[in-house]
Amino acid sequence: MAYYSNELISRLKGMKFFVYLRKSSEDNEDRQIRSIPGQKTDIEEQLVNKFGLNVIKPYYEESQTAHKKGRPNFQDMLQRLDKGEADGVISWHANRLARNYGDGGDLVQLIAEEKIKVVLTCYGFYENNPRDKEYLMTEFTRATRDSDDKSEAVKRGNRTKFFERQQWIGPAKIGYLNTTNPVTREKEVIEDPERFPILVKAISLLLSGLYTPMQVLDKINNEWSFRTRTTKRQGGKPLSKSAWYKFLTDPFMYGLMVRKEGEVLGSHKPMTTQIEFEKIQIMLGRKGKPHRTKHEFSYKEVLNCGECDASITAEEKWQIICSACKTKFHKGKKDDRCKACGLLIEKMIKPTILQYIHYHCTRKVNKNCTQGSVEIRELERQIDQELDKFEIRPEFLQWALEHISELNEKEVNDRVLSKNNAQKALQSVETQLDNLMTLFISPNNTNQSLLSEGELTKRRTPLLDQKKDLIKVINELEKRQDEWHELAINTFNFARYARYWFKHGDVKTKTQILGALGSNLRILDKILRVDELNSYFIIAEGKQEVEELAQKLEPAKEIDFTAKTLHLEQLRQCWLRGSV
Ligand SMILES: [Zn+2]
Ligand SMILES: [Zn+2]
Repeated sequence: MAYYSNELISRLKGMKFFVYLRKSSEDNEDRQIRSIPGQKTDIEEQLVNKFGLNVIKPYYEESQTAHKKGRPNFQDMLQRLDKGEADGVISWHANRLARNYGDGGDLVQLIAEEKIKVVLTCYGFYENNPRDKEYLMTEFTRATRDSDDKSEAVKRGNRTKFFERQQWIGPAKIGYLNTTNPVTREKEVIEDPERFPILVKAISLLLSGLYTPMQVLDKINNEWSFRTRTTKRQGGKPLSKSAWYKFLTDPFMYGLMVRKEGEVLGSHKPMTTQIEFEKIQIMLGRKGKPHRTKHEFSYKEVLNCGECDASITAEEKWQIICSACKTKFHKGKKDDRCKACGLLIEKMIKPTILQYIHYHCTRKVNKNCTQGSVEIRELERQIDQELDKFEIRPEFLQWALEHISELNEKEVNDRVLSKNNAQKALQSVETQLDNLMTLFISPNNTNQSLLSEGELTKRRTPLLDQKKDLIKVINELEKRQDEWHELAINTFNFARYARYWFKHGDVKTKTQILGALGSNLRILDKILRVDELNSYFIIAEGKQEVEELAQKLEPAKEIDFTAKTLHLEQLRQCWLRGSV
């Protein structure tokens, strides 16, 4: 809070003021900016009423953003100040007054001409002296820059957060909490330590089939004393039936986040797996509406029909063995009860639920293609058999990884030089940009005699372009540096762990693994066919040879470094050729 001397206060009392209030839509992201009524209250309490100031007109500007030049109220106020209708301006903060270089310049110009004798804000007062004018210009420049950054950031922020950082936006779902990471200051969604475990327990109880959904809900509330999270307005209540069913039909529990722009696997800890989630949907009978998300099936993108070359599609079917009459029936989308005895699926105790996924030709090329379908279990057995051929021994993996690292060091050294040069150049461009800005906002430039706004833009643009290019070069150098190293490591790891990931990976991983097997993958007469090995898999081709080499070298403590390096160098060249 600035110090107001008696002398100053008595001077202020003889002046006429305009009050200028502004809040723009983009400020909504910024909690630090007070609302218009909040700004008004602060100004009244801290300035107008406190010192008994004479306000001749308040200006409100809410809808428009001051980022682009052209705020009718602001312009009107400046014109009237220019005519001498008032002596000063009161605003909540300097950044409320200007958000672009032009506006800021106009206002400071009026101060320099003594047409504005004082600017009062809740954070301080500014008069016609170099220090105050410089401060205001800095404040306006910063507001401009923040505004540039912010409008970009807000636009991208939410999308980026959702799709790239895979973070849920908005209030956390049941079982999770919103929090701010103390290190990164990023908002995150974490498990609710009180409720997450209860819900996990409830899901597994439901999946056991021993209890109906309503019986599980009863346990949640009455045995495990579940209470909803207390917020300002509500909470502290048992889980309602509707909230329970909403929870059970939300794929969020297995990690999938759905928004109208699309869906993505979130980074939050899942409560269950996709297949179990789907089982729950079956158990819910009609209440388990087929969830809005498309089911993604592994493999189909990389498979073709061996007869007509059309793409392959997958189809999921569910069968239930009724717990009462033991009839096995197919569950269509609308079926909610046993087809024989009529018992509701939701009420069944321990029904047997069977999932089948069939792969078959889409017949888009030849309507009369004669190929039948193959069930996922059979297909996966065959893929596993193929992968087995490429699996490498753990000791060999260790050996290979160590030497890849040694080779990588050499690569790094070569690249460090070019990176250093690029970084030096970047530094120089940044200094030039800083200098320009310092000149522009300097007190000697308040009338833009040293550097006009047009000139500033003209000189900044090529520098900003240079900066962008240099950053790109540096990023590329960094990326290239890791590329072959990563590729090599991936290749070995892949060969080593493909079978593991094939068993435990998600839809994408499984598909990638199958895709990596080779080119022209097709199914003919229920058999998976692979034409030729993918070059990415070249390591596997030489598996035998390389393992022999490894064996020869392994027993010896003293290793012939050059020989090995040479060999790996050849392999590396192979991979690089094959992968590009
Ligand atoms: Zn076909
Ligand atoms: Zn039945």
